[in-house]
Amino acid sequence: VIVDPKNTSRICSDCGKKNHEFDGLTQSQWLGTRNWTCPYCHKNHDRDINASLNILNRGLNQLNIQ
Ligand SMILES: [Zn+2]
Repeated sequence: VIVDPKNTSRICSDCGKKNHEFDGLTQSQWLGTRNWTCPYCHKNHDRDINASLNILNRGLNQLNIQ
């Protein structure tokens, strides 16, 4: 399964909303952000674990198994 990785680092894997607090950051500021807290559901995320959960969920959605 091939998954579009767009925004997977910025979308909360818990509530599914995109965190727009990162929109104004430079590339290096954004890449330096290792942890963040969702402004909507207040879940704290490790950047890479959150992204990998989003990628997994997208892949499962494409297979229609959840
Ligand atoms: Zn959230």
